[in-house]
Amino acid sequence: MPNPLPYKCPVCDQPLSLNSKSYRCESNHTFDEAKEGYVNLHLVQHKRSKHPGDNVEMIASRRDFLNKGYYQMLSDAITGWLSTSSMGLQQRLLDVGCGEGYYLQQLRKASLARSAPLELAGIDLSKPAVKLAAKQKIDAQLAVINADALPFFSQSFDVLLSVFAPLNVREAQRVLKTDGHLLMVGPGESHLSGLASQIYDQVTPHQGNYQILEGDNDLQLIDEVEIKQEITVAGADVLDLLTMTPYYWHTSEEQKASIAQLESLTTTLHFYLRIYQLKSTPLN
Ligand SMILES: [Zn+2]
Repeated sequence: MPNPLPYKCPVCDQPLSLNSKSYRCESNHTFDEAKEGYVNLHLVQHKRSKHPGDNVEMIASRRDFLNKGYYQMLSDAITGWLSTSSMGLQQRLLDVGCGEGYYLQQLRKASLARSAPLELAGIDLSKPAVKLAAKQKIDAQLAVINADALPFFSQSFDVLLSVFAPLNVREAQRVLKTDGHLLMVGPGESHLSGLASQIYDQVTPHQGNYQILEGDNDLQLIDEVEIKQEITVAGADVLDLLTMTPYYWHTSEEQKASIAQLESLTTTLHFYLRIYQLKSTPLN
């Protein structure tokens, strides 16, 4: 990457500079670069989070499942929106909650195909996920940290992406440039209804994850894309799908065993891609 963005020290907010595999600020707070090329900026005192990050099993299942292309139409919708919007793909983009890097990788492919110099960064609280992302050689700045303390200076990004991930609205507004875009993906009402019906007698429709942005005057909803498709998941992919979703926590061992034995599962995928634009920058 030609001009990596400076990281902000999570302890004292000064810039970190990279010297011989260590990020260091003027106050000598030091964070070593992992051999895979990411940096862990997560502080011990920040560990009390509602979202401890996905575990290794969930991450491996999501990587295997997504790499088979089941969510391709979602990543196509994201890259498609970026490439047809007035911005093009020549942007600095931060994936907040990048996981094992599937969407960053798809964005990188799209930017290479169009020779568009998209500059990518990703953060996630799950160290094993970020490590896996770094191994993909996506050419992206990757850091372990939670979304409540984005390790970048104000107005650093043209685009933020949040796919089924926790988002801190205030932090999102801070690191976005004025007129920058937030692309937020959450579940539609019937998302994974075929999977849910294997687990619950009565399926409650998804509520979506946009409530945190309702009534926000600075981030304004400017576009919405609905993505709905029926897919048939086969073999071991069925258990991977279960394991990568929060349903996993609500499934009994008996249910897991019976789902694992299904030859195939037909389910609806239903997403909303919502695009918000930062109309003004908070005065702080
Ligand atoms: Zn510092």
